[in-house]
Amino acid sequence: MNLLVSSCLLGLNCRYCGTGCLSDQVLLLKQKHRLIPVCPEQMGGLPTPRPPVELAHGRAVTQAGKDVTAQFEKGGEEVVRLAELFECSYAVMKSRSPSCGCGLVYDGTFSGHCISGNGITAEMLQKKGITVLNENNFNELMK
Ligand code: SF4
Repeated sequence: MNLLVSSCLLGLNCRYCGTGCLSDQVLLLKQKHRLIPVCPEQMGGLPTPRPPVELAHGRAVTQAGKDVTAQFEKGGEEVVRLAELFECSYAVMKSRSPSCGCGLVYDGTFSGHCISGNGITAEMLQKKGITVLNENNFNELMK
């Protein structure tokens, strides 16, 4: 099946700090599925590298207080568009990210602590009925 995957998990250097976070396990998914890499923050128009962002009170904000919610939402819309175009029913997205995280995200204090919640793109995908997994819980897709 066609599967959305966070680009950074495939080793693309799209993270805020200009690196990737390749998961060899996620890469194995290409043996069974067609992987469609997406980076909502880049797709929303943000540069790489870029200041780190966390979610606070429903907004995406840098540590310096710059609000980039509009870019995050645009990136999410683009990812949803791809999901619909390629008829994806699953996505494997980077955990804890303010865009891609599902179930747990950094808490907005830039201290490394996490709280329950979804990244902006993960939330948009879920609202479209797409199952959002992460690099630690996608085993069902390897069967
Ligand atoms: Fe990875 Fe998602 Fe962050 Fe892009 S927005 S770097 S795909 S976690």
